[in-house]
Amino acid sequence: MELTRKTAAELSALLAGGEVSAEEVTAAHLDRIAGCDDRVHAFLHVAADGAVAAAREVDRRRAAGDELGPLAGVPVALKDVFTTIGAPTTCGSRILDGWQPPYDATITRRLRQAGAIILGKTNMDEFAMGSSTENSAFGPTRNPWNLSRVPGGSSGGSSAAVAAYQAPLAVGTDTGGSIRQPASVCGIVGTKPTYGGSSRYGLVAFASSLDTPGPLARTVLDAALLHEAICGYDPMDSTSIDAPVPPVVAAARQADVSGMRIGVVTELSGEGYQPGVMARFAEAVELLESLGAKVTEVSCPNFRYALPAYYLIAPSECSSNLARFDAMRYGLRVGDDGSAGAEEVMSLTREAGFGDEVKRRIILGAYALSSGYYDAYYGKAQQVRTLIIRDFEAAFGQADVLVSPVTPTTAFGIGERADDPMAMYLADLCTIPSDLAGNAAISVPCGLASEDGLPAGLQVMAPVMADDRLYRVAAAAEAALTERWGHPLIAEAKGLGTSEPWFSGERGGSA
Ligand code: GLN
Repeated sequence: MELTRKTAAELSALLAGGEVSAEEVTAAHLDRIAGCDDRVHAFLHVAADGAVAAAREVDRRRAAGDELGPLAGVPVALKDVFTTIGAPTTCGSRILDGWQPPYDATITRRLRQAGAIILGKTNMDEFAMGSSTENSAFGPTRNPWNLSRVPGGSSGGSSAAVAAYQAPLAVGTDTGGSIRQPASVCGIVGTKPTYGGSSRYGLVAFASSLDTPGPLARTVLDAALLHEAICGYDPMDSTSIDAPVPPVVAAARQADVSGMRIGVVTELSGEGYQPGVMARFAEAVELLESLGAKVTEVSCPNFRYALPAYYLIAPSECSSNLARFDAMRYGLRVGDDGSAGAEEVMSLTREAGFGDEVKRRIILGAYALSSGYYDAYYGKAQQVRTLIIRDFEAAFGQADVLVSPVTPTTAFGIGERADDPMAMYLADLCTIPSDLAGNAAISVPCGLASEDGLPAGLQVMAPVMADDRLYRVAAAAEAALTERWGHPLIAEAKGLGTSEPWFSGERGGSA
């Protein structure tokens, strides 16, 4: 039995039926990581000992007859932005090198309580700033579909780990698209829950009014299972929503769009969008229509200002949040030989510890917040944010969900956009509006683009706390697209998208 080819739902059933032990499942995934992570580089830290110990504990509890949840014994990879007792947390940055967090993030704690097996910490763009994982201080992650391409970012390690069958599930964070864009270019499912639906406690902050943890998985149902395990009210997070988690697992099982009103966002198409991505998107929408959805065009005129507004708001919050890395409290300290004063040590440490993109954001943010410029930049961006929220409100008056491509192109080449920040920022054109408005959105694979045989994604957006609608639509699309294409991952196994010889033949297996 190829345990790494199983979905989380399949593993859960095998574990519950006593057909496999959590220790076997964990060992299979650790073997897979050992066998291919020198090429993929999804992980910054593999927590093999902790994972095996946790798996044995699950097996012991199961043998003792304890009631266990659906994720008990199921492996999960955790983005290295969540604090973890017993494993480092670097955020892909030198400045946190060597730091051992003294507490678990709420997400980490909930995973442990659910009996999920944390395999390790995944690579990411430094402090989650980027769309390619090339901004990691520890080297890039590669896209399992084609090792010369990026896996997207900033949750690129998490998405690559799931696409490469190193883990059936992973947790990422989305501030401007960092779950949905890497999911799309790696051919997997990724959800940005409603802002406040998942806890930020113990998540190292980038832009606090936007940061949202969420699940990555190879199927919609798996994403829903993880969604329910990690989401929900947390008194430790002041912006957490005190309401029940929307019933996303039931919605994924329902997988029904008949009578649903689906709005195609006019503004999220056109120049700069790869024709093969648009073709797959259009087909996905047609499929949904053939399943009984009512498809209309919806206009959100202010979405065109979303990217510039985001690149004022996110850097502003980042410049404030990252002030805490002062060489005294965490990780790296440079120049502390007794000759330099505190301010100089701080300056030397920040110079050595932060990468170029992080420094660019801190400078941009400090400028946007400075007196004399605040109203013109930060203040104006907040007004634009309100206009975008109003666009969503109007659009959700006409449609139950909105759809668009996830990102304008398939995975680009490593190095291709590294020296062009604007080109890199454009990867989040379609995802940023939902971050600014705080509503929920999902990325679901919709086939391979004809130009390069790489995955394209369908984005579904739903109103605040209507996350279940995402799963209804995504699961219906997934079922129809599987019939049409084979699941994109399976399509690759059929030879449609295999461009890396090392990967072909190794993949595929049970659908
Ligand atoms: N790529 C965007 C940025 O660099 C979004 C990142 C994210 O969602 N964390 O800010």
